[in-house]
Amino acid sequence: MTDDSDAADAAAGAGTDPETLADRVADGDRRLYELGDHADAETAATARRLVVERDTGVDLDATGEYTFDAPQAAQSNIENLVGGTQLPVGVAGPVSVRGEATDGEFYLPIATTEGALVASVNRGCSAVSAAGGATVRVTERGMTRAPVFRVDGISEGAAVAEWVEANEDRLAEAAESTTSHGRLQSVTPYVVGDSVFLRFSYDTGDANGMNMATIATRAAAEVVEAETPASLVALSGNLCTDKKPAAINAVEGRGHTVTADVTIPRETVEERFDTTPEAIAEANTRKNLVGSAKAGSLGFNAQAANVVAGVFIATGQDEAHVVEGSNCITTAEARDGVSASDASGGSGKRSTAGELYASVTLASLQVGTVGGGTTLATQSEMLDVLGFAGGGDPVGSNADALAEVIAAGALAGELSLLSALASRHLSSAHEELGR
Ligand code: NAP
Repeated sequence: MTDDSDAADAAAGAGTDPETLADRVADGDRRLYELGDHADAETAATARRLVVERDTGVDLDATGEYTFDAPQAAQSNIENLVGGTQLPVGVAGPVSVRGEATDGEFYLPIATTEGALVASVNRGCSAVSAAGGATVRVTERGMTRAPVFRVDGISEGAAVAEWVEANEDRLAEAAESTTSHGRLQSVTPYVVGDSVFLRFSYDTGDANGMNMATIATRAAAEVVEAETPASLVALSGNLCTDKKPAAINAVEGRGHTVTADVTIPRETVEERFDTTPEAIAEANTRKNLVGSAKAGSLGFNAQAANVVAGVFIATGQDEAHVVEGSNCITTAEARDGVSASDASGGSGKRSTAGELYASVTLASLQVGTVGGGTTLATQSEMLDVLGFAGGGDPVGSNADALAEVIAAGALAGELSLLSALASRHLSSAHEELGR
């Protein structure tokens, strides 16, 4: 892009080096966001750092060290690029995952600054793997967008809802004309006074799908406006619900709904966790269920968000979707079972040796292996470590696999923290590893 001041630059022989660009911002000739129009993305980022350094007196050398492709990031991921923020990344595991989209051993990449977190998840992974692995299933998937329309009252609102229900195929046709991978699965109307909300849910393949769903919903909303008296007020009416704590996501799901469970023999619980199935089950009931209910929490879990956030950041997911990712219910139950020693004795009889059954159900885990931040340098490396970078074959299988592995990791994290609480080791672990 050129303008008169570019012509003036050329006439004056002025360069587009970072110093000159920063001077022009200081002189008021350019705004920070305009620098990308006058220089390549890396030069523009260097110039912005200079502007910030001069204005604040802070040295931004560390921020200027980054490995991602600046033009690509400036194109799709960020505006006013100045550099990169780095976080330490560690791996927990390998953890055995017995899913539908994937079956194998996986290193779980976790980017965090919380000391003791990776060690905690790692301990859980070793117990889960020793017990034969986590069984995992994606039970639902659907990225949602819910525009809000104005009507003149409940009578008109009810008629609009009826029209939508009878014409879902027309809305699907419009929505799907905007994407080759997105498929409209359902539209659920909610009428509140003179507002009509339509919650559109899409299968978005291997993409998180938030942009895809938004663009597709805009096309469908145009049909609703053309065919009914409803008038679009906002393409997102907050019933989606994107990046806010909301019961609708916990109940109806958003993104992937995924469950991981495991049954761990008593010996393994005692050996790896230094506690018993009964103590873990009691800690889970009193903390994750009773405590969360008393608090009015939507998350009936101990630390699912820790694993979700760590893997999201390491693999280029939208980090704000950790809000939905924390909608997790953890269950734990001490069961009668066949102990390893009983089983090897061949009696086949159930003993009172016991075992621990535990599960996590993440209702609204939003993941993608294409789009968003998934192609940035370190993030795509970590997706490669998992083996799920890019589009899956069949479409959607890579995103499903990522959801399955995150769920197994969340299960490992829950078991480890519950057992630390049950054995009263929590504060000593944090003292040793986190300070
Ligand atoms: P996107 O990069 O906008 O879309 C995914 C792209 O990948 C589409 O162009 C799709 O093509 C293509 N694609 C190629 N192979 C695919 C495969 N196997 N499966 C699915 N798609 C495939 O990303 P998005 O996932 O829709 O949206 C995620 C981004 O949205 C994140 O950056 C997030 O931060 C941001 N976001 C947006 C909003 C919003 O309201 N717009 C809200 C929250 C977050 P086709 O479309 O032709 O199928």
